[in-house]
Amino acid sequence: MGPISDEAKPHAVLVPYPAQGHMNPMMKLAKVLHSKGFHITYVISEFNQKRLLRSRGPHALQGLPDFRYETIPDGLPPSDADATQHVPSLCYSTSNSCLAPFLQLMGRLKQSASAGLVPPVTCIVSDGAMTFSVEAANNLGIPSVLFWTASCCGLVGDVRNGYLETKVEWIPGIHNFRLRDLPSFIRTTDPQDIMLNFFLGEIENAHKASIIVINTFDDLEKFSLDYISSVFPAPIYTVGPLPLLLRQFNNNSTTTSSLSSIGSNLWKEDSSVLHWLHSQSPASVLYVNYGSVTTMSSDQLAEFAWGLATSKWPFLWVVRPDLVEGGSEVLSSESFKKETEGRGMIATWCSQEDVLNHPAVGGFLTHCGWNSTLESVCAGKAIVCWPFFGEQPTNCRYACEEWRIGMEVGPVVEREEVRRLVVEVMEGENKGKQMREKALEWKRKAAEATKPGGSSYQNMERVVEAVLNMKP
Ligand code: UDP
Repeated sequence: MGPISDEAKPHAVLVPYPAQGHMNPMMKLAKVLHSKGFHITYVISEFNQKRLLRSRGPHALQGLPDFRYETIPDGLPPSDADATQHVPSLCYSTSNSCLAPFLQLMGRLKQSASAGLVPPVTCIVSDGAMTFSVEAANNLGIPSVLFWTASCCGLVGDVRNGYLETKVEWIPGIHNFRLRDLPSFIRTTDPQDIMLNFFLGEIENAHKASIIVINTFDDLEKFSLDYISSVFPAPIYTVGPLPLLLRQFNNNSTTTSSLSSIGSNLWKEDSSVLHWLHSQSPASVLYVNYGSVTTMSSDQLAEFAWGLATSKWPFLWVVRPDLVEGGSEVLSSESFKKETEGRGMIATWCSQEDVLNHPAVGGFLTHCGWNSTLESVCAGKAIVCWPFFGEQPTNCRYACEEWRIGMEVGPVVEREEVRRLVVEVMEGENKGKQMREKALEWKRKAAEATKPGGSSYQNMERVVEAVLNMKP
């Protein structure tokens, strides 16, 4: 397809759930669509607007003439906090209060289009957790693309949220699981539970989308995908892992360098971690990061700290300012500092993809957020798993039992187990070696899926074609 003139450009309005693990993949999808000639409107919350300005500086929201940011309120009281908002409160407020401001935004975009300032909106890309915008698309007669940013196996868990009334030994679309491997949000018997009701509503709205896209790839989640395809009426396209797909589409794009200045990190990245990694030997560093939402107690932190210390392996540990509920004294204690002297680097946030792809990183201790899991697959790194909430337990189970790239720290963190698993993932000759080899095998499969002719690459082309041909 040749270049598209500005007025004739298709225009996608992307609506990520306002949290890091959703904004990142939605940003990648936005950039892929931009490289395919779309005018982009990327919608963020007012709260995250302030955070992006803090983390990325005054030009953070400058965008490009055909890549614009817009904001809507998230419905929670204004705050200057530099932390993820309380998830149930945010889910409740977005699903109950965002439709009206979003429709107002769509009205403003329509006026701008009439004035020739932007192309008319062609489609709305709704996060699977922001489905008020599917409703808006339907009301406005605009095609909608539902983007599920988490795993397909997690989606199966959410779809089957009536499971407590069914036989828990068997759920279609999920292999070999225990009750505690199901997404935490549906493990409740309380019919009033906010998260349960939130997901019931979101899944119901997902049935109204014109197209569904998922950030995964066929080889990785075939079994869950087959089931999910039988649940929703819309065609389902796998377009992941988006970090790799974006690289492919960027190769074809003339605006790559200007696009790379557009980012979605809500915390300021500490670039010194990369300098430190440069000074380390290949595959010698364990990278530890629990994502943007996980919290832990001081006791759990101390167990992880001493597990890392006694493993004797160098580590790069990202400890977000809001990670620990209680004190993090162990990190500044003389005994911990002495034990880890010269081989421990602690930071508050980093560019995770750069870190995972650094040759010095040999393994990853992760909470199994879907982006972290996929980014580790892309980088071919085996993982030690400590899932926190949501569909992370399901991702962990799949990583350990199906994909064979992970080992799980039990729900009660104990330093000796952390030490043992870290040593296994970094140097183990049996299980550890198999995991490291499997991780490289999945890396190759992920690269296959996203290169021209691969399943995700082709699916992305199909999504673009379908959107361009869809009649409202
Ligand atoms: N991330 C990052 N730097 C950090 C921690 C996290 O860039 O120090 C990114 C990470 O690469 C991923 C996202 O934040 O894209 C976290 O999403 P994930 O689904 O793994 O977990 P969540 O934060 O939603 O629990």
